[in-house]
Parts: sequence; C-alpha cells; structure tokens
Amino acid sequence: MSQMITQKLMLFFPKCECEKPIIYHLVKDHNLIVNVFRAKVTPEEEGYLVLDVTGTEEDIQGAMDFLRTFNVTINHTGKGVSWDEHRCTHCGQCVPHCPTGALHFADPATRQVAFDDGECIECLACIRVCPFNACASTF
Ligand code: SF4
Ligand code: SF4
Repeated sequence: MSQMITQKLMLFFPKCECEKPIIYHLVKDHNLIVNVFRAKVTPEEEGYLVLDVTGTEEDIQGAMDFLRTFNVTINHTGKGVSWDEHRCTHCGQCVPHCPTGALHFADPATRQVAFDDGECIECLACIRVCPFNACASTF
C-alpha cells in the first residue's frame, strides 16, 4: 500500500470559481482527507482556503492536476500567517496562546522567541494577542 503523506496548501479562487464544489471532488474523486484551517471570501468574492490534504502521493498529484484545470492559484507553502522578526520584541505574550508551539522560546535562558511556520495551523491567536503587530495574516 502506498504511503500516506500530508501536504499544506493555500488555494486562491477568483470570483468565477468560488461556486464550484472543489473540496467535494478532492474527497470523493481523489480519496483525500481534507482539513480546512481557514476559509475566507473577500468583498470582491474571491475565495481563499488554507487546508491540509492527506493521501497517497499519486492521489495528491491527481488532485493537483484536477485543481489546475480550474482558474485556481495553488500556493504550496501554505503560508497564511507571517511573523516579522524585526517587529518582534520577544515579549513572550504570544507563546502561551500558540496551541502548537509554532511560536516558542527558542532559548529558555534568553527567552528569545522563534517561529516555526511548519507547525503553524493558522488559528490566528497570535495576531490577536501580539501588542507589536509582529504576527500578521497574509490575507
Ligand atoms: S496562528 Fe496560531 S498556530 Fe500559528 S503561530 Fe499564531 S498562535 Fe501559533
Ligand atoms: S507577542 Fe508579538 S512581540 Fe511578543 S513575542 Fe510574540 S510575536 Fe514577538
């Protein structure tokens, strides 16, 4: 049996593609397990989705080929939250609010804060609590 892998994606749908049941097809036709972290439709009716897809490499590849038949932009980095290390004062306020440890004390002695974007699930908690706007949503 092929190994299951998980890939994080950010999808951008222009207005004309928002109504299509794309997630349904990823699950039903490409056997993927889909975990949506964030979904947003802008006032211009463009749509953004940040999601994890889990499946075999072949199924994920097939799903990507399917997505490319639409006018959908696929961002494989899935980076919907950014951390600006120059704005960060290492106050530590965000650390207990971050559920995954993406924002963490890299060095307990100096309490230097670091960001591991691979661990970020885009819950947006840090954006709400950071007094220095070091964390931001890219959409
Ligand atoms: S968005 Fe959530 S998971 Fe990501 S760094 Fe901020 S608090 Fe942590
Ligand atoms: S709350 Fe903001 S300034 Fe403070 S450590 Fe976290 S990211 Fe840096």
